[in-house]
Amino acid sequence: TDLSHALLETRSVSVSFGAFKAVDAVSLKVTEGSITGLIGPNGAGKSTLFNAIAGEQACDSGEIRFDGSRIDGLASNDVHGTGLARTFQIPKPFAAMSVLENLMLAAPDQPGEQFWVPVIARGRIAAREREILERAHEILAFTTLEGVASEAAGQLSGGQQKLLELARVLMSSPKMIMLDEPAAGVNPTLTGVLIEKIEQLNADGCTFLIIEHDMDLVMRHCDTIVAMTNGRIIYEGDAAGAQSNEMLLNAYLGA
Ligand code: ADP
Ligand code: MG
Repeated sequence: TDLSHALLETRSVSVSFGAFKAVDAVSLKVTEGSITGLIGPNGAGKSTLFNAIAGEQACDSGEIRFDGSRIDGLASNDVHGTGLARTFQIPKPFAAMSVLENLMLAAPDQPGEQFWVPVIARGRIAAREREILERAHEILAFTTLEGVASEAAGQLSGGQQKLLELARVLMSSPKMIMLDEPAAGVNPTLTGVLIEKIEQLNADGCTFLIIEHDMDLVMRHCDTIVAMTNGRIIYEGDAAGAQSNEMLLNAYLGA
């Protein structure tokens, strides 16, 4: 196998809001099997780039490829269907529903209660629902959320909600996960759990692209670091290089 195979690639992707270019000709490669960190000051365009990749934001120009196929122009559900999942900077659970229900609703093609389903198909649907329920419990155990399975998602702490975001995307067994600031506002204990889970999933072959401000986390756990400021990539390389990169330092200091 080609060790440097790019699972995700953007080619000169731009996104504008009116006259303002939030993402400006960004070409990025995420190596299969890597944990790639995306850093940069607030307003750099990181979340907008995620939205463009995930099909939630139209690109003005450029191409996006995932796993060998063009995904730019696909609706977000279809991007998810290719095996590319993302979490949001602000968690978006169904707040009034239980943690378990949130997971079950995140299963791909979950059957729901469809009035037109003939009685003869009900057995098959019940079997599928049992499968989803089992998978949900597995993932709850993996993400240490089993104890709050029946609590309303809106009642969880900020850190638990971040874990729930990860748990929800795991329901579709994605090839790659994009995490938007997973450790922001999360206490050190839960951050530790989150990192451990990311490392375990990565060891099992899941590729990660992670937006994160916690430099210590990024430097210690990411193979490759990509830095953006003002919609552009200004650095791509290893952690040591990022730490000594003057442009990057200036960007953070607002120089
Ligand atoms: P980051 O995630 O790096 O902090 P964002 O991608 O959220 O940055 O935002 C990049 C820039 O684009 C910011 O100046 C932000 O205000 C602007 N922006 C983001 N989303 C929108 C939007 N929907 N409409 C207008 N401007 C936006
Ligand atoms: Mg952001």
